[in-house]
Amino acid sequence: MTDPRTHHLWRPYTQMQTAAPPLEAVRTHGSRIVLADGRELIDGIASWWTAAHGYNHPHIRAAVAAQLEAMPHVMFGGLTHAPAERLAARLAGLLPGDLDHVFFTDSGSVAVEVALKMAVQMWVNRGIAGRTRILAFREGYHGDTLGAMSVCDPDEGMHRRFGAYLPAQVFCDLPRTAVQVATMDARMAAERETLAAVIIEPLVQGAGGMRMHAPDVLATVARLAKRHGLPLIADEIFTGFGRTGTLFACEQAGIVPDILCLSKALTGGTMALAATIATRAVFESFLSDDPAAALMHGPTFMANPLACAAANASLDLFEREPRLEKVAAIAMALAEGLEPLRYLPGVADIRVLGAIGVVQFRQAPDLADLKRRFLALGTWVRPFGAIVYLTPALTIASEDLAQLLAAMRAVVTETTA
Ligand code: PLP
Repeated sequence: MTDPRTHHLWRPYTQMQTAAPPLEAVRTHGSRIVLADGRELIDGIASWWTAAHGYNHPHIRAAVAAQLEAMPHVMFGGLTHAPAERLAARLAGLLPGDLDHVFFTDSGSVAVEVALKMAVQMWVNRGIAGRTRILAFREGYHGDTLGAMSVCDPDEGMHRRFGAYLPAQVFCDLPRTAVQVATMDARMAAERETLAAVIIEPLVQGAGGMRMHAPDVLATVARLAKRHGLPLIADEIFTGFGRTGTLFACEQAGIVPDILCLSKALTGGTMALAATIATRAVFESFLSDDPAAALMHGPTFMANPLACAAANASLDLFEREPRLEKVAAIAMALAEGLEPLRYLPGVADIRVLGAIGVVQFRQAPDLADLKRRFLALGTWVRPFGAIVYLTPALTIASEDLAQLLAAMRAVVTETTA
């Protein structure tokens, strides 16, 4: 093992003293990651759920190469450019309702920060003081920056050590039962004068444990938010772009949030780009003769032209190729392939939604051992907590998916034996 004290890279979510050294990736193609030692792994998680069209899609590569020639980057303050103009208009056209106003940033966490700031500043701009808190859901995850951390699960989440540093938000259980609906309703009524918004991961709480909820739960959240006059922020950073079976998860509940966040698969997983999209009403609360009423945010690399070109090319692929049909086929294969694990004594639950397949263990397994077993079978799967899951590229070849599922069955069976 390399001595972390003499090594320059500091890795994500990694205990540098004890972690096994990372594998060196040298190339990617389709659903495959090629390692420096020549091994080729089938990627079961599409690089943290980003690579919607698989790796190195020629259409995205060509669009980025052309943009690289013309203008890799230009500042966005006082300037604009066709890739961003086009992308914003296309996103507005694809999103439900009047989610028409697009603010670009460069990561999911920052898209969430901007959404929270939008909600808070919207009240300030309307002359209503004191509305600075966010109602968020237990088991949720929205990112690693300050505001985003503050709306992650405060007890179970990975940020619990930061409790004293974070703004105190209001947490509820997702309203799955009548009691939970009534509790949320009561919390909203009680905190009404201090709340700025509600934030939710529609249909799937991803990094908090891949927990799914029915569209009517999402619809209930939207209904309660509306009843209490609170803007709803839909964090579709994980669920956006087909992952749950529809282009956006909100569609399944027939809701239009007031603010929606996108990232991850926005560029087909090729480049850092995120977007926070607001309805006309939210946007118009920033229109004023007062310069201080403007949205006070502006990352240096916002709307990077290369990333916008990649995102436009990714949208072309969603238009031209049958991605959602493929997601339906992946969902069926996941459901069928994971079903035999349901009755193993160590397995608590199997769940599938779109191109997300999850095995929940009764007890957290030895994750390092699990990862080793997947690697030995030529697959790249990253279990966490008490779950192991597959979120493959939406273009994965059926033989590759079959191999991933075979690896899941073998590893879960051995682990729970
Ligand atoms: N929101 C959700 C729902 C996410 O799943 C993630 C990342 O996993 C984020 C926000 C944060 O995105 P990023 O890692 O790009 O900052």
